[in-house]
Amino acid sequence: MTNPLLTDWTTPHGLPPFDMISDDDFAPAVDVALDEARSAIAAIAENPDAPTFANTIEAMELAEVTLGKVLGVFYGVAGADSNPAREALQRDFGPKLSAFGSEITENKALFARIEDLWTRRADLDLSDEQSRVLMLTRRGFVRQGALLVGDDAVRLRDVKSRLSVLGTQFTQNLLADERSWFMPLAEADLEGLPDFVIATARAAGSEKDAGGPVVTLSRSLIVPFLQFSPMRDLRKRAYDAWVSRGENGGETDNRGIAAETLALREERAKLLGYETFADYKLETEMAGTPDAVRDLLMQVWTPAKAAAEADAKVLERMLHADGFDGPLEAWDWRYYSEKRRQAEHDLDEAALKPYLQLDRMIEAQFACANRLFGLEFAPLEGPVYHPDVRLWEVTRDGEHVAVFIGDYFARGSKRSGAWCMAMQSQHRLGGEVRPHVVNVCNFAKPEDGQPALLSYDDARTLFHEFGHALHQMLSDVTYESISGTSVARDFVELPSQLYEHWLEVPEVLSEFATHAETGEAMPADMLQRMLDVATYDMGFQTVEYVSSALVDLAFHDGPAPRDPMQKQAEVLEGIGMPHAIRMRHATPHFAHVFAGDGYSSGYYSYMWSEVMDADAFAAFEEIGDPFDPALAKKLEDTVLSSGGSVDAKELYKQFRGRLPGVDALLKGRGLDAA
Ligand SMILES: [Zn+2]
Repeated sequence: MTNPLLTDWTTPHGLPPFDMISDDDFAPAVDVALDEARSAIAAIAENPDAPTFANTIEAMELAEVTLGKVLGVFYGVAGADSNPAREALQRDFGPKLSAFGSEITENKALFARIEDLWTRRADLDLSDEQSRVLMLTRRGFVRQGALLVGDDAVRLRDVKSRLSVLGTQFTQNLLADERSWFMPLAEADLEGLPDFVIATARAAGSEKDAGGPVVTLSRSLIVPFLQFSPMRDLRKRAYDAWVSRGENGGETDNRGIAAETLALREERAKLLGYETFADYKLETEMAGTPDAVRDLLMQVWTPAKAAAEADAKVLERMLHADGFDGPLEAWDWRYYSEKRRQAEHDLDEAALKPYLQLDRMIEAQFACANRLFGLEFAPLEGPVYHPDVRLWEVTRDGEHVAVFIGDYFARGSKRSGAWCMAMQSQHRLGGEVRPHVVNVCNFAKPEDGQPALLSYDDARTLFHEFGHALHQMLSDVTYESISGTSVARDFVELPSQLYEHWLEVPEVLSEFATHAETGEAMPADMLQRMLDVATYDMGFQTVEYVSSALVDLAFHDGPAPRDPMQKQAEVLEGIGMPHAIRMRHATPHFAHVFAGDGYSSGYYSYMWSEVMDADAFAAFEEIGDPFDPALAKKLEDTVLSSGGSVDAKELYKQFRGRLPGVDALLKGRGLDAA
């Protein structure tokens, strides 16, 4: 019998025939696809003809067509609808695929062809997009060590493998510390806690067999405990434990791992010819250099710190009014800030909820895309991987653009969070291929017959992921390796965060935020309060984030510190960290930076993207029309359709006429007055 993953799909728009695919089909299909890709790569490397762009770079783009098709389906269902068989396959495929990746970058004959094209690039008569793909392909090889020979090559491999062991250990130590600590609460200690916190504390207590409610270090329990518990001594105990994760001495202490990791990263960067690890990491980013990152962070730091210090004074007066002497401490901030929030911005979440219906918010995200880009969305019948999944055909002027797949409800088989992925990416090489794009969320599923209701945060998530989907659906490139969201890490959140701004456009909410029972529009003052709350306590949030980002940068921008804890203390001292705020992630539990390479000297990128989305939306505000057709077209022609075919900085300049500034972000965070 033929494997349904390996046949031509005759379904509507070539969607994967989910009803015919069983879990037993994945492993053999991956094996066949890997064999096919290996032979294709070998044929390119051994081709007796002189290298050309077509017989080398384009042939590489086409080498993994089947593999991409099979893995698109597999990773789609493995994330959104897993089961033990799929989890086992995932564990199995990970090492197989990473070995295949190394085989390619270590293939000397293949790299020699790429290098030959690279040296002759001026004479090859390449289009801009082709030049870019050649540059990116070569750079990917070089960054993996393709130019190294002999001892250096061996050492690089050892360094990489040791780094991956250290990353795993760091994560496991952190988990061990998080799991082992808990604080039992007597009935009297529950005073002041809302019902949902008490319920979570009781559930955690029975899970730990503690014979009563407990506080654990899980963010969803400790944060509300610090927010609501009036017991100052208990808050201090819990807070101390929370910020000491990875720093408790003994087997699970992460301080040594952090030091070794930083030293090895520096060595890795030096082997590859970079001065520092930050230079190596930022080379592929829009920010480009450590100085550009530091400059941005400091522009935000100064007003954020001023706002936080002003807030600290207010909160400290509240502390003193409660009969405590001395300064406001870190374990006090969330408690007094919550009290102040309730006094100043009372927002009744329960009254708000019926106004934010999932179906109407989906209509809203489609309506905005229609007004901005002329896209139309029609429900589509076709194969799906789970009965909750919905399909739409996306068209423009009657022409097919994409299939949009919405998978919105939480279930046990889905991993947490929300994300966007393309099961099939737009490209033209080898024939026009239109995207199949999935948005996956974890909204609470209503009882039968009831409308699904969202929180405002949920609605923002919906728009955020749809912004990523637009980046995929409007992609207009030839080569798949640069399609859609295949862009720099500090650029990829621009389309998604930017799209969130259309949810804040009052006319959108007043049309689509209608009461589930009465159908009435949300009252204007409720709408305004909902939008205001989103910027509450931004001084605190910005300070805890930016301080972490500055420490991350300092770790990697220069010689590796022998004692990272001392370096951390120096950085915080240097920027004048406010007394009652700590880093969002201190070094021994800074998983973004030490659990792997992903966000090392890259933690800044959340802020970088936010600077851009605020600045980009300000372009619409300056014109005075959030749906200005000419500006929307410009946004599509530059940022949304180009994928990685143009350098991110250049794309942004084409859209905005200049690089982004921080003013709009400071205004959006309410920090401009400070
Ligand atoms: Zn995102």
